[in-house]
Amino acid sequence: MQLSRRDVLKLAALAGLSTWLQACGSNDAVDDEEDVSAELGTSQPSLAKPRILVVGAGIAGLAAAAKLQQSGYSVQILEGRERIGGRIWTSHSWDDLPVDLGASWIHGVEDNPITALADQASITRAPTDYENSVVYDQRGAELSDTQVEQLERQLGQLMEAVAELVENTDDMPLATALQQVLAELPDKPDQATLNFSLNTVIEHEYAADAEELSAQEWDSGAELDGGDVIFPGGYDQVLEQLTAGLRISTAQHVSAIDYTAAPVRVTTDKGVFEAEKVIVTVPLGVLKHASIMFTPALAASKARAIELLGSGLLNKTWLRFPSAFWPREPEIINSIDAQKGRWAEFLNIYHYVDKPVLLGFNAGAYARMLEQLSDAEIISDCMSVLRTLYGADIPEPEAWQITRWGSDEHAFGSYSFVGVGATEALRDTLAAPLDGRLFFAGEATSREYPATVHGAYLSGLRAAEEAMQL
Ligand SMILES: Cc1cc2nc3c(=O)[nH]c(=O)nc-3n(C[C@H](O)[C@H](O)[C@H](O)COP(=O)(O)OP(=O)(O)OC[C@H]3O[C@@H](n4cnc5c(N)ncnc54)[C@H](O)[C@@H]3O)c2cc1C
Repeated sequence: MQLSRRDVLKLAALAGLSTWLQACGSNDAVDDEEDVSAELGTSQPSLAKPRILVVGAGIAGLAAAAKLQQSGYSVQILEGRERIGGRIWTSHSWDDLPVDLGASWIHGVEDNPITALADQASITRAPTDYENSVVYDQRGAELSDTQVEQLERQLGQLMEAVAELVENTDDMPLATALQQVLAELPDKPDQATLNFSLNTVIEHEYAADAEELSAQEWDSGAELDGGDVIFPGGYDQVLEQLTAGLRISTAQHVSAIDYTAAPVRVTTDKGVFEAEKVIVTVPLGVLKHASIMFTPALAASKARAIELLGSGLLNKTWLRFPSAFWPREPEIINSIDAQKGRWAEFLNIYHYVDKPVLLGFNAGAYARMLEQLSDAEIISDCMSVLRTLYGADIPEPEAWQITRWGSDEHAFGSYSFVGVGATEALRDTLAAPLDGRLFFAGEATSREYPATVHGAYLSGLRAAEEAMQL
């Protein structure tokens, strides 16, 4: 009888040999090992006794694990989903077009570690020229370049006035500060147009409404230069640069972490894992939901950081039409609507890959409202906006892919923001290690580059360094 690798692992586990097998076995043992631990459950805990466990196989967790492995540590990743990548999520359900449902861009290509990863593997990228856009008013008429420039200038001036206003006041919602500035102006701007600028320039980027954002620190964090690029072939190509040889166990939903003493015990729905140190990379939204029970409870300062930092919402709707009824040239298609936040921005995929596809974005309150609707209702709402821009006769989409990051149990939001009363310093508190055994990474822990792929990546490297030193 020929024993499969799965059978060998099962026998080895029962004989307490799994660590040995993993040490000398190939790293493709991942799936087999999951099955074994699932079957043995808690009665045979901690099949693997890696020195360091990483919770979450998003870019932060992968970066941390890759660094630890390169440094000679025994490391294993426990990932709750059946896939890796977290908020980098490329759907391949359309045969001819990879679709990014999470991150799309490298924000600022210069000195960006994601650029370095993409360079190593010669992954094709396409720059986005945000100036190459078209803006339609509420009746579907195109704004002139001068009108668009005026909108940008207007928002810039208002935000400068807001910054001056809040310099010597307590924090308040960005929307409140803006209202106070507007109240002093003799000529008020058109509300729908101002809402549009606010929504597309600020609320989409920070995944939160002006009512939620801190007037003092909404734009904290640094930006890299060099412009933005997308991956026409999918962001997941970047992940492949990190996963080689890593031991990743998917479908391991972590529910508890006991770091009272070494070894730290990590409980998943399949069993218990032990390690001397654990790096937690789950999103802020997951921490806010208290999906993982920490023993002892997280320090009060960390709990406060989790409470005060915001987990924002940006959702994507990919629409595929039988043919393109919109212009190919503009990269960004904008719509001013009477209702704030309603389908204000589309990325024109047709421009990049010559396929009749649009990608719509919604953020904050409007995105939260849409998430409660069915696909058909979301498409209907979107089509009514597109009909205002391109006429009643445009065809219905033949396919679509819609994200609901807010109700995703492994994210509970798209990315973090600094809410009213919070400060960027709370990100350091969130990142701080506990008892030399528990370490934290993920985009929300990055004070310098929050809400980005590169920020998450760098946070993973930082946590790996900490785990190696402490
Ligand atoms: C719609 C959208 C668009 C975006 N656009 C961009 C962009 O264009 N450019 C950019 O730079 N950034 C963008 N971002 C942000 C970027 O995707 C994130 O900052 C980054 O991917 C976060 O990586 P991470 O490793 O911190 O978290 P994640 O990728 O979320 O990784 C955390 C992992 O933990 C897992 N997990 C959660 N709970 C558990 C549990 N209980 N047990 C086990 N595992 C668990 C998750 O499944 C996940 O795999 C976007 C995000 C979204 C949602």
